Amino acid sequence: MNKSDSERIAGILSHFGYVETENEKEADLLIVNTCSIRQLSADKAYSLLGVWGKRKKTKANLKIAICGCVAQQDKDKIRQRAPYVDLIFGTHNIYELPNLIKRIENNEKICAITTTPVVCNQNDFYISRKKSVNAWIPIIEGCNNFCTYCVVPYTRGRERSRNPEEIIREAENIVKEGYKEITLLGQNVDSYGKDLRDKNITLANLLRNLNKIQGDFRIRFVTSYPSDITDDLLNAVSECEKVCKYFHIPMQSGNSRILKEMNRRYTKEQYYEIVSKIRNKFDDVTITSDFIAGFPGETEEEFIDTLNAIEELQLDYSNTAAYSPREFTKAGKMVDKFISEEIKYERLNRLNEKNREICLKSNEKFVGRILNVLVEGKTEKDGKILLNSRAGNNKIVHFESNKYNIGDFADIYINKAQTWCLYGEPKE
Ligand code: SAH
Ligand code: SF4
Repeated sequence: MNKSDSERIAGILSHFGYVETENEKEADLLIVNTCSIRQLSADKAYSLLGVWGKRKKTKANLKIAICGCVAQQDKDKIRQRAPYVDLIFGTHNIYELPNLIKRIENNEKICAITTTPVVCNQNDFYISRKKSVNAWIPIIEGCNNFCTYCVVPYTRGRERSRNPEEIIREAENIVKEGYKEITLLGQNVDSYGKDLRDKNITLANLLRNLNKIQGDFRIRFVTSYPSDITDDLLNAVSECEKVCKYFHIPMQSGNSRILKEMNRRYTKEQYYEIVSKIRNKFDDVTITSDFIAGFPGETEEEFIDTLNAIEELQLDYSNTAAYSPREFTKAGKMVDKFISEEIKYERLNRLNEKNREICLKSNEKFVGRILNVLVEGKTEKDGKILLNSRAGNNKIVHFESNKYNIGDFADIYINKAQTWCLYGEPKE
């Protein structure tokens, strides 16, 4: 979501004659787009502001801005810790930038944070997409779930679905521009349309409509909320040939008591049922997840349930994190139940070890098989070209070839599996 916001910010700035530079020292305007999902990412933002503040002493016309979730939450702290910052703008204020930029160019210091979005027609703005094969399209912003550990509902606000016509128009333009993959984004994509009046506006129907766009491209969507995945969505994924057979469905914990404490609306058993329903419906489907180690009050036995879940469900890949207390959240106040840093990181290590073991197992299934991949990048070494690609089911595949280029689809025979990727050769 942040990457997508950054592309939109860069697009808006281009209206003012700003161009992106690879060399940070050359920049007249520096913006840090922050994430506050865990303390570590927030800390990184502050240390960057410190470096930039020093630079301002030698470059008087340098403007510094901070946006994203840390800005949305911490405006007073930023003012205090980094008074030299010219512009603080929140997650709801991106489309106000045309006005804000003019004002900071006139040496005003501004803080633009609102709790509701500044509305606009997003199609009025150019999006400076990163030149690659994939383009992001946010379809729903915010979240209504209030998982007890998570800060997102406080920084991104309540769910707001974009109008389907606007999304389809954006997708058509993306395909015309030559992108080969569209990823629909949302904190909970299954909620898409629930806040709009027309009950036919659902993720399933959006996929069906996007699938009708002419062209050789694929469609992905992230993130799915386990108990919100509908049969109609599974049918749409099955019907639509452009939609990848890939689901990112964060489980967070393999223990039902912890899930309840997290305010997740499913039990371990319900999650198992969802995974088995998906695996029964699709061949070669990839299911990935997120897990948190050391949620307040988590016992050793409850943590072991998480390790068992990764193993029993044979999850293809999982993002893992140690629990990080967040301001405003319910779990952040359970101070007397906090797990020590030592135990948290020891659990995280075991989680990562299990993840590696199961990822390798998942990859080994593909050795001797053919996967259709999309080439995303290339590196040249000793006159040989090594291509980096991704299969529809999200597996990363490396292969050597002088025949294919970035943006090409290719059928690849897989001959080797490693923990994080596969190796292969083009099928003759
Ligand atoms: N909407 C998605 C997740 C968005 S946040 C969902 O509901 O699954 C991305 C991931 O960050 C989460 O899945 C969770 O695993 C992790 N995360 C969120 N808050 C966290 C916290 N306080 N500490 C550690 N990890 C956290
Ligand atoms: Fe956070 Fe839960 Fe919303 Fe995901 S569903 S963004 S974890 S509150």
